[in-house]
Amino acid sequence: MAKPENIIYVDFKQEKRERPSLYFKPPDPKGCQHQTMYIDQDLWRVVCEDCGEVLDPIRVLDQIAQDEVFLYQRKIDVEQLYNEIMKLKKEEKRLKNKIKRQKAYLEK
Ligand SMILES: [Zn+2]
Repeated sequence: MAKPENIIYVDFKQEKRERPSLYFKPPDPKGCQHQTMYIDQDLWRVVCEDCGEVLDPIRVLDQIAQDEVFLYQRKIDVEQLYNEIMKLKKEEKRLKNKIKRQKAYLEK
């Protein structure tokens, strides 16, 4: 007897697997953070100096790009703070001169 065409058959044997055939391995939070890297110019690969792991160069570039964005934002923050300090110093000088003039006026 032929199987009807409008029925979807599911193979439940696959459900017995403990995990899919391809999965993401979660990073080890206690593992090496790959803080220092070098480029092996003989084999053209990026290697962690601390643990010796060969690293994905695209991930390394992504991390460098993220660090650069972070530093650029901090530079802008520092410039804004510097400008605020300069404004406050100018205001301080103006108020000190005003106080000096008022004291001179009262002492007459
Ligand atoms: Zn490492």
